Amino acid sequence: MLFNIVTTHDCNLGHCRYCRNNEADPPFPRRISYDIGTLKRFVAGDPDAMIGFYGGEPLVGMDFVERIMDEIPSRKFVLQTNGILLDKVKDRYLHGLDCILLSIDGPVATTDYYRGAGTHDKVVKNARLLRRKGFAGEVTARMCVSEHSDVYRDATYLLGLEDDAGKRLFDGLHWQNDLMFGDREEWNDLDGWLTSSYYPGVDRLLSDWLGGIERDRTVRLIYPFNGLVKTLLSGVPAKLHCGCGHQYFNICTDGRITACPIASDFYHIFQMGTIQESTPDDLKKAMDVVEPCPSCDIYSICGGRCLYANKLKPWGEDGYAKVCESVRHLVTAVQAVLPRIQALIASGELAPSQFDYFRYNGAEIIP
Ligand code: SF4
Ligand code: SF4
Repeated sequence: MLFNIVTTHDCNLGHCRYCRNNEADPPFPRRISYDIGTLKRFVAGDPDAMIGFYGGEPLVGMDFVERIMDEIPSRKFVLQTNGILLDKVKDRYLHGLDCILLSIDGPVATTDYYRGAGTHDKVVKNARLLRRKGFAGEVTARMCVSEHSDVYRDATYLLGLEDDAGKRLFDGLHWQNDLMFGDREEWNDLDGWLTSSYYPGVDRLLSDWLGGIERDRTVRLIYPFNGLVKTLLSGVPAKLHCGCGHQYFNICTDGRITACPIASDFYHIFQMGTIQESTPDDLKKAMDVVEPCPSCDIYSICGGRCLYANKLKPWGEDGYAKVCESVRHLVTAVQAVLPRIQALIASGELAPSQFDYFRYNGAEIIP
């Protein structure tokens, strides 16, 4: 299991357009209020435990990150960060991380539009610093994609960034669409953006990705593509790819355990226990998605996309169906190229393991 620990609800950026962190006070303490020893006892109940740090901006609660890494054994440590404070992380903690999911949305114009002037340059500078310091873990660019985004332009830009030595800056890339988190009315023309920008962008990105595989026999880590190819190759019916409610659990600042960090404000629906009174075994009874997902013809591939959206239907049934159109486009596009991948695997030129990725690290797979 991966335990996603909210160290603080505070954030040092605080005005990103798509983020609702500062809109309302969460029904939790601003910072961790439980005893770290209680967390340690709880986590010790899972021999395979992994820990993720989340916020707010988790590095605003750097003292908790350090104490948890010092005191709690974990198979892996993951950090989801806006990257601004990465240059302040002491080397012994930095090198203890296995994966950093770094929020950046694309080139300067896209990133700074969403996240404030100067953000892009600071994040890229800090990503390059990680490489100069010899950080050996995974660094994945985590994009939020919304109406101002061109997924092809923005993803291609990030995939092409280099460190000071001319090597790839980012090992992986994930994008999450800003759908059903804010109000639907915040979109001026969702349909127009999907058909004229997003769908052609996904198709082109997939085509480039496949072109790279066929040319070099290497697989660039693009989470939505890798995740879907792995699922299709395995034939095993997918569960929620983000892991929420079955492999990925959120620990709130007061010790409540919820199925998803975003859904924590609605803990009366999403709470699964507390670190004070539960054990990891108590979480084995998963929280599952409800209709329309179990009856959907691509449920075994999609896995239900998002537990939060599924249970709350923030855009209503009609809005939910609209978002499912975007999932269907992606799934259909990946299904269409699968025979070419299978042919390379059958001829021994490619191994299924080349599509492996760090599951449940916080990349949701289905955007
Ligand atoms: S496409 Fe939509 S309805 Fe189908 S499984 Fe995914 S989220 Fe559920
Ligand atoms: S995709 Fe998963 S992690 Fe993301 S908001 Fe939905 S349930 Fe939570």
